[in-house]
Amino acid sequence: MKYLLISFLFFVHCSAQAAWHSRYESTMGTRVGVELWHDDEVQAERIMAEVMEEMTRINQTMSPYIESSELSEVNRQAADNPVTVSLELFALLSKAQRFSVLSEGAFDISFASVGYQYDYRAQQRPDKDALAAGAYRIDYRQVQLDPELQTVKFGRQGMRIDLGGIAKGHAVDLGIAVLQKHGVKHGLVNAGGDTRLLGDRRGRPWVVGVKDPRVEDKQAVLLPLVNEAISTSGDYERYFEEDGVRYHHILNPMTGDSAREVQSVTVLAPDSTTADALSTTVFVLGVERGLALVESMANVEAIIIDNQRKMHYSSDLAPPE
Ligand code: ADP
Ligand code: MG
Repeated sequence: MKYLLISFLFFVHCSAQAAWHSRYESTMGTRVGVELWHDDEVQAERIMAEVMEEMTRINQTMSPYIESSELSEVNRQAADNPVTVSLELFALLSKAQRFSVLSEGAFDISFASVGYQYDYRAQQRPDKDALAAGAYRIDYRQVQLDPELQTVKFGRQGMRIDLGGIAKGHAVDLGIAVLQKHGVKHGLVNAGGDTRLLGDRRGRPWVVGVKDPRVEDKQAVLLPLVNEAISTSGDYERYFEEDGVRYHHILNPMTGDSAREVQSVTVLAPDSTTADALSTTVFVLGVERGLALVESMANVEAIIIDNQRKMHYSSDLAPPE
């Protein structure tokens, strides 16, 4: 299971036709899913297939692991020449840039300039020298976007970008747009740690669990939610340990080393792109700066589990003392 255990396992049959439909598949390096309430099974299947096609398309465009992706092309060329990109990729790069500015660089897609040297499965990481040599290539200000020409150019040789902290949220938002286009009123789209809920579960809220970062199959909190996006970033999904130190996939752009102030961050927001980018951002910022950022934004809430396993809530979520 990914970060969220979501309690929509019990499907309700209210009439002969109207029913919950669901489909789960593997893409974008994770499990993605769609669920919806519909009174026509054939139509429901069509809608779910369309959501999955959208996910697959985004993966083909934005995956750094697919050589023919637009993102890979940018990484090959942009240090030498401005690269013209699709409107969709340009818009997402621009959004990523906004989160970088907002967080003074805690969110930075050019983390990949060093990030590619980590292999969590093979337990490999850049050594001190490699970090010292590479960290200056992490700098969102050197990802130069030209809105008129719709191009991206890197300011330094050896730079790379990776949208792993925001692209799944983007994909979930487009999946929800497919549901809305077809008039669906109750449903959800999920990609790994990113979920967006459309409407409620027909008269009841959806209930989404935040995983305990250190205890398998245990949930730290359950949240009743309606019409909301929720994303969790954790240090337990892709990591290895060496001499008691955990090396995981969320990097502090200032150092190129894993961020270690917290174990998990869950963000609630109106859309998944925002929730996804902010969960990664707040993870890097840590409790104090992370909560300050969240409090400064309208309609955004967070739950942070720090490295002592203490829970911290933004003000509108805080349980009564
Ligand atoms: P997941 O991808 O496991 O759902 P997150 O949403 O927290 O988890 O995103 C983590 C991913 O974000 C990493 O795998 C990496 O691709 C990317 N990333 C890591 N550090 C940063 C950072 N400082 N800024 C932006 N993206 C990052
Ligand atoms: Mg994220």
